[in-house]
Amino acid sequence: MSASTTPEPAKEVRDFLNQPQKMLINGKRVDAASGETFEVYDPSTNSVLTRVPKGGSEDIDRAVQAARTAFESGPWCKLTVSERGKMLWKLADLIEQHGEKFAQLETLDNGKPLAIARAADVPLTVDHFRYYAGLATKIHGETLDISVPYAPGASFFDFTLREPMGVVGQIIPWNFPLLMATWKLGVALAAGNCVVLKPAEQTPLSVLRLADLFAEAGFPDGVVNIVSGFPDTGAALSAHADVDKVAFTGSTEVGHEIVKASAGNLKRVSLELGGKSPTIVFPDADIDIAAAGVAGAIFFNHGQCCAAGSRLLVHKNIYEELIDRVSEQAKNIKVGPGMSPETEMGPLVSIEQQERVLNFIRSGESDGARIITGGNTPGGDMESGCYVNPTVFEKVQPDMKIVREEIFGPVLVAAPFDDVEEIIARGNDTPYGLAASVWTRDINKAHKVARGLKAGTVWVNCHNIFDANAPFGGYKMSGYGRDMSIHALENYTQVKNVIVQIH
Ligand code: NAP
Ligand code: MG
Repeated sequence: MSASTTPEPAKEVRDFLNQPQKMLINGKRVDAASGETFEVYDPSTNSVLTRVPKGGSEDIDRAVQAARTAFESGPWCKLTVSERGKMLWKLADLIEQHGEKFAQLETLDNGKPLAIARAADVPLTVDHFRYYAGLATKIHGETLDISVPYAPGASFFDFTLREPMGVVGQIIPWNFPLLMATWKLGVALAAGNCVVLKPAEQTPLSVLRLADLFAEAGFPDGVVNIVSGFPDTGAALSAHADVDKVAFTGSTEVGHEIVKASAGNLKRVSLELGGKSPTIVFPDADIDIAAAGVAGAIFFNHGQCCAAGSRLLVHKNIYEELIDRVSEQAKNIKVGPGMSPETEMGPLVSIEQQERVLNFIRSGESDGARIITGGNTPGGDMESGCYVNPTVFEKVQPDMKIVREEIFGPVLVAAPFDDVEEIIARGNDTPYGLAASVWTRDINKAHKVARGLKAGTVWVNCHNIFDANAPFGGYKMSGYGRDMSIHALENYTQVKNVIVQIH
């Protein structure tokens, strides 16, 4: 289907795009204090979808103040945990009710296929809020037996409280705009924090639509604030002296900036950064499952996944066959506008991202890697969009830029390996440590490699499997702290110890 015959979005989505976009501060929909706005693009055509407020440091100040008031003295701090949980559950219900509109907005703004936004982004979002709705009533401290050797005969009762951090800044990327907001918001709210969230400049729309739902779900004013803007908006949030904690998902480069900015008031930081995750295929793997799995690992969401399986390492005995099969799958992926029902891979998120990915491809070529398929843009009807064809490189060397750096696009780099001992070291030969997958039918090998890999998630005979109950985060330069699951509570609570002497 050509770009010119792509289906129109639903009327409610068109109406949303035609209305003036507003940020959310203290329960009110507001413009930026400066009155400035910026354009938001549909990457399938590079046409302007709408304009949104360009929030600046003054808006961050207003939002942080609103969050502080809500946290210290608003109705929020008097709610029971059960009431907090019900609000999160109601929010999930509302998102589900408006699921189709969220899916369409996500596709228009980010470029991903509508089928994927419907099947993955929106249901995962709903499920995630429900998970944390349930968890809100299960956060607890502990009682401790203490001895206090210098107070013989004394009796104590020691218990811990798990208290919210306070005002939390959250800065998110553009690859899963709604879902990344959800990963941050669900746990923060379940734990009783108040939030200022900045969406990525490329994809603010689904989060601005979400902003409509907080009041309806029952959240008091100021508990969630949304400020759209540019890097300086994020920088103002991460440096703000009245923000107790900042959570960031995005590039490792900006992760460094966040840590530096946090130093002023020593705010707590959690980071979910980039990756160069290996997919490791042994000769005893089910070759059909492995070929489809390896292709999905890199091409899902156009390779714009922090956990994308971007480095393929295949045992030499099946190298040729597996590379042929994966390349064949890459060739057959239907690239097109996300709104078109046949599309399996949409455009990248922006012209800048397209150019960035094409530059990586050029560097791979000039370094002597061989392109088996892709390496170019589809052209024709898709010329005006940010497309890059699914690309497979082979004959890559460990020191090439395309092997070392995160490309964040549909580009796979493949190399053979010889033995199990070698492969753990090869898998770990990266500054990153976000994820990895192992493909084998040998359970011993699977466990051995899973233990040896320095990665926050290791998948065995699958890749890109996410669940609200499964922790996700990085080793090494992929960041620290875990998103999702009960472990994410560590990022959003602090432990208070109370010792009572019984006289
Ligand atoms: P990015 O710059 O790291 O952006 C992520 C978020 O941080 C956005 O909301 C961004 O705002 C904000 N930001 C940028 N500079 C900031 C600063 N100095 N202080 C505070 N916040 C700041 O990522 P990108 O430029 O969009 O993408 C570049 C590369 O990063 C990608 O190619 C990919 O390699 C990597 N990336 C990784 C992930 C991941 O999930 N790990 C996600 C996205 C990108 P603006 O949107 O206004 O810039
Ligand atoms: Mg966009």
